[in-house]
Amino acid sequence: MSRYWSSLVHRLTPYVPGEQPKLARLVKLNTNENPYPPSPRVVEAISEELRNGGELLRLYPDPAADRLKEAVAARFADFAITAQQVFVGNGSDEVLAHVFMALLKHELPILFPDITYSFYPVYCGLHDVAYATVPLDEDFAIRIDDYVAPNGGIIFPNPNAPTGCLLPLPAIASLLARHRQSVVVVDEAYVDFGGESAMALVSEHPNLLVVRTLSKAHSLAGLRVGYAVGQCALIEALDRVKNSFNSYPLDRLAIAGAVAAISDQAYLEATRQAVMRSREALCSDLRGLGFEVLPSAANFVFVRHRLHDAGELAAALRQRGVIVRHFKLPRIDQHLRITIGTDVQGELLVEALREILA
Ligand code: PMP
Repeated sequence: MSRYWSSLVHRLTPYVPGEQPKLARLVKLNTNENPYPPSPRVVEAISEELRNGGELLRLYPDPAADRLKEAVAARFADFAITAQQVFVGNGSDEVLAHVFMALLKHELPILFPDITYSFYPVYCGLHDVAYATVPLDEDFAIRIDDYVAPNGGIIFPNPNAPTGCLLPLPAIASLLARHRQSVVVVDEAYVDFGGESAMALVSEHPNLLVVRTLSKAHSLAGLRVGYAVGQCALIEALDRVKNSFNSYPLDRLAIAGAVAAISDQAYLEATRQAVMRSREALCSDLRGLGFEVLPSAANFVFVRHRLHDAGELAAALRQRGVIVRHFKLPRIDQHLRITIGTDVQGELLVEALREILA
């Protein structure tokens, strides 16, 4: 590669997703996937879409994905959300990319926590978007008083990642009221595992956008579906960006599967309860092994051992076939983020840790 091209490539700092190992038989607790399969209705709906030798695949999907928007609106009917208030995309990462392009103003810095989902700084770095990080407090909580106006917008996950800490709804309402000139984006990737959704605040706050994914609570990371909910002006802005470069973000199978998943509330309830039960059991086992465990409202826990280096622990676990996430970043390089798996996976993790710590 010529010096010109290689310097161009090296200027770009990529987002590094969690490892997707090729080996079977690993206990994979590194990317916050759900350990349970999706609702059986998802497979039925996708099979139905493939009927008659897949003849429907000849045809473009609905560019507006109206069925999916209606399913999302029906799920949040209690908050009077309508289909016109929903934007959909190919995973919430793609939805977030649209949000950065359409709604976060680039003349002023966008604000987000210093410890958060790495997509945000990476996106800003790649696209030369100004941002400023706001330190979490000593308990890893988001301190809303430190978010100053004016700014180009505010974005954070709730619960936060990789900490699992929750910002209570009244704090979000207060942030929205203090920053009426900014869009406040609440990334609710993990909210179904014990969080409080900001969906209840959408009707009162024109500056709020709530972003969700089907990758976690609905066990559909492989289908790539995410969505955003907000008042119509924000959704129209997102649609304009979408229409300018891909009118068909979701394929037919993704739309059919996502509608089925969102409509099966009973299944969602059963799996999220199972994950939350396993989380409580794992937290108590980890505390028993000498780990400090941050209270988590997500499908992962963020832990640290007082006597053992986190990088070495991650490597020793890997040798025993258990993969967890270690971030080599300031302030959290002694922590591990561990996804909640099945109880059996949790037991294998604890057994491996017992052996390592002995
Ligand atoms: N937001 C947060 C906070 C996440 O951790 C993730 C998953 N890594 C995403 C969004 C993106 O999820 P997806 O693109 O699978 O919808």
